[in-house]
Amino acid sequence: MGSVVALQEKKILLGVTGSIAAYKAAFLTRLLIQAGAEVKVLMTSAAAKFISPLTLSTLSRHPVFTEVAGAEGWNNHVELGLWADAMVVAPLTASTLGKMAHGICDNMIVAAYLSARCPVFFAPAMDVDMWHHPTTQKNIKRLQSFGNQLIPVESGELASGLNGKGRMAEPETIVGILDHYFSSDLPLNGKKVILTAGPTYEAIDPVRFIGNRSSGKMGIALAERAAALGAEVDLILGPSRLSPKNATIRVHPVESAQEMYETATRLFPQVDIAIMAAAVSDYRPAEYQDQKMKKQGSAPEIKLVENPDIAASLGQQKNRDQIIVGFALETKDAMANARKKLKKKNLDLIVLNSLEDAGAGFNHDTNRITIIDQNNNYTNFELKSKTAVAEDVWSAIIDLTANRP
Ligand code: C5P
Repeated sequence: MGSVVALQEKKILLGVTGSIAAYKAAFLTRLLIQAGAEVKVLMTSAAAKFISPLTLSTLSRHPVFTEVAGAEGWNNHVELGLWADAMVVAPLTASTLGKMAHGICDNMIVAAYLSARCPVFFAPAMDVDMWHHPTTQKNIKRLQSFGNQLIPVESGELASGLNGKGRMAEPETIVGILDHYFSSDLPLNGKKVILTAGPTYEAIDPVRFIGNRSSGKMGIALAERAAALGAEVDLILGPSRLSPKNATIRVHPVESAQEMYETATRLFPQVDIAIMAAAVSDYRPAEYQDQKMKKQGSAPEIKLVENPDIAASLGQQKNRDQIIVGFALETKDAMANARKKLKKKNLDLIVLNSLEDAGAGFNHDTNRITIIDQNNNYTNFELKSKTAVAEDVWSAIIDLTANRP
């Protein structure tokens, strides 16, 4: 195996479940320690029948945890979940796979898995027919949809004597994948990103609000792309039916522009890049009625006051290394208005989507954008899926960071 410098001082939480391949966990632990990683091992009680916890605690130089509350006392799965830079479940049985896919939290590994904010890798091990069973395949897809990374099984002789797919990947392969993850020069590795997305609801009374038709699709696609490019992502999401699939994205649900503003200004000082993709209401009712407003015979007047402009306020706070990207949705004089906003709000880029384009803007799965920079350069893009648009926007941001002095 080549050099594995990237694993130096990385904290790895290794989950071992009850498969014959559990013996390979000893080699895996040894290789990780040799690569300079710190390893803490979690085992199911079934795994402890295949390999002794004493072996793994000796190799990992840490106690091994088998139960959330057991002979060792109460084990803090939350703390372990937060401690790790990466979690690896190897070998992963069909049973624990099913539990992870459905949140059945009856062992230490699933408890830590549900608490982990770090990337999760899983290396299944099972017999060939279990591997091909639709339940197993569905559960694997489910974990992948959460952003977890499958370490593929290998083919060959199985413990049953059958031949086929289902062997756990070799420890060297697993270490190689982890090393690649930590060393890969993803362009947003080490970058912190916040995004606003979705609509805001401005309450009139307990049941009514002023809102808009934003779905949150564009902002969520941008958040997913940022995470895939290696960024640490906080998504400030207005009321939306949608949510990101990648479990590493921290979602901050908010309702009003004021809440969105407070969360964004609190997080902004620590971030490198902020994308303002939310459709923020410019106004809110001046007064909130505690009780549902009744019919009064004459139509009531609702007085409005202005909301804080989140993008503009971050633009004022911004230091010279930070980047802010805004969105503009215009119905008239689109380019001129977008340019004005870029200047007025002190943005680095503005993404213009015009409502004049069929299939662009609110609620559609597609969007057609123009990206404008501070030097008035602009690029027009074709109508594309919002996922593809997110790629274009991130490429423009990455180009911008690369060209900075
Ligand atoms: O509403 P407007 O067209 O000015 O929005 C342009 C940009 O400013 C968008 O990126 C939007 O998310 C942001 N914005 C904001 N706070 C507001 C209004 C808009 O951050 N109150």
